[in-house]
Amino acid sequence: MVMSDKITLDVNGQLQVPTSPIIPFIIGDGIGPDIWRASVRVFDEAIKKSYDGKRNIVWKEVLAGEKAYEMTGSWLPEETLADFKTYLVGIKGPLTTPIGGGIRSLNVALRKALDLYVCLRPTTWYEGVPSPVKHPEYVNMVVFRENTEDIYAGIEFAAGSADAGRLQKFLAEELGVSYDFSDETGVGVKLVSEQGSKRLVRAAIEYALTHRLPSVALVHKGNIMKYTEGAFKQWGFEVAETEFSEYTYTWGQWERTKAEQGQEAANQEQREAEQAGKIIIKDIIADNFLQQILLAPRDFSVVATLNLNGDYISDALAAMVGGIGIAPGANINYKTGHAIFEATHGTAPRFANTDTMNPSSVILSGVMMLEYMGWTEAAEAIKSALGATIKEKNVTIDFFNLMEGATLLKTSEFADRIIDKL
Ligand code: NAD
Repeated sequence: MVMSDKITLDVNGQLQVPTSPIIPFIIGDGIGPDIWRASVRVFDEAIKKSYDGKRNIVWKEVLAGEKAYEMTGSWLPEETLADFKTYLVGIKGPLTTPIGGGIRSLNVALRKALDLYVCLRPTTWYEGVPSPVKHPEYVNMVVFRENTEDIYAGIEFAAGSADAGRLQKFLAEELGVSYDFSDETGVGVKLVSEQGSKRLVRAAIEYALTHRLPSVALVHKGNIMKYTEGAFKQWGFEVAETEFSEYTYTWGQWERTKAEQGQEAANQEQREAEQAGKIIIKDIIADNFLQQILLAPRDFSVVATLNLNGDYISDALAAMVGGIGIAPGANINYKTGHAIFEATHGTAPRFANTDTMNPSSVILSGVMMLEYMGWTEAAEAIKSALGATIKEKNVTIDFFNLMEGATLLKTSEFADRIIDKL
């Protein structure tokens, strides 16, 4: 029996998880230590109970952020990156974005170093969680946000700078772009590649297949940005039609059938695909999508989208099911197996060391990690204990302020209640 060891990826691309895997964690800045300490107790207890003490995680603290800077003079020491590379799966608390010092964002640096191209954000409502919408239970979506490209690649030039001027000159003189650039125009470059789009959509379709979900919606602004957002949609359809044709039906196919045989034939074809249990690969313009998630959230299941759209969409969806106190996330490279799980909120520095904030985002990020590792029993146990605790209106300040007749708990007490219910 393998004891304390690394998680590895076998030749078939399957994770191999020993009984006591070593998992690196970053405690995080601001509220990070409070919510991590609460969360890790929940993870350990759930694993112990679910597997009769036969499995456990060997936590390995790695440094990043303020703690790393104080101890080593570096915001993101090389050893931290090396450990995430070595151990494949890790988890982190929120990190301060250093001001100055050459690092734009520690999170972005980690994602880049490990090429974590999928930002995965599930949105599920837990009964009792305060929500601004009438039917938060209808919101059940998993967002696959492309994590490495788009205007987030960071290629941009300040208004009035020499480089912005040179780029504008090049666009005008070499590429014949007729645009009346003023001196005060900043310029950014939007990058969307075939490979980048396809690997993201491929991951979304595989997820829908594994979890038996009915559709994947490609959300884009291809009506305006044809060669980036529009190409993303086309490449997405192509992946489905060439690599998953047995299991999917795309709206691209619907369009072709409609053009050749009329709308009724196309509708009939789609109905047959649905009846055969095929995943419908739809597309929708991003602005309309943001309307439709409010009007008809049940129409959507898996969502695949580019980086910037994904940023807006995941926060809008998180708000519908209770806000960032309960919004988990993961950054994954499905090819190498590397994954870092993290809450989607930041460090909320005003509340550091108050033991008041909601640890649910980190707890549910841990649940995603356990699911990724195949430790589903422990994951399910935590989800149902967390759900039961909230249903009984035992909550932290963020929910307490929005719920009638709730009991206010500290971060640590909220974890105690969850542990009692495991
Ligand atoms: P934030 O998410 O830290 O906090 C905004 C507000 O959300 C807080 O004031 C608080 O009211 C609420 N909130 C956040 N987490 C909560 C929780 N667990 N429970 C209850 N309420 C919670 O956003 P910010 O203030 O814009 O950013 C602070 C710092 O965090 C910045 O340095 C930023 O760069 C960084 N940040 C890091 C990450 C990350 O590490 N993944 C993500 C976003 C922001």
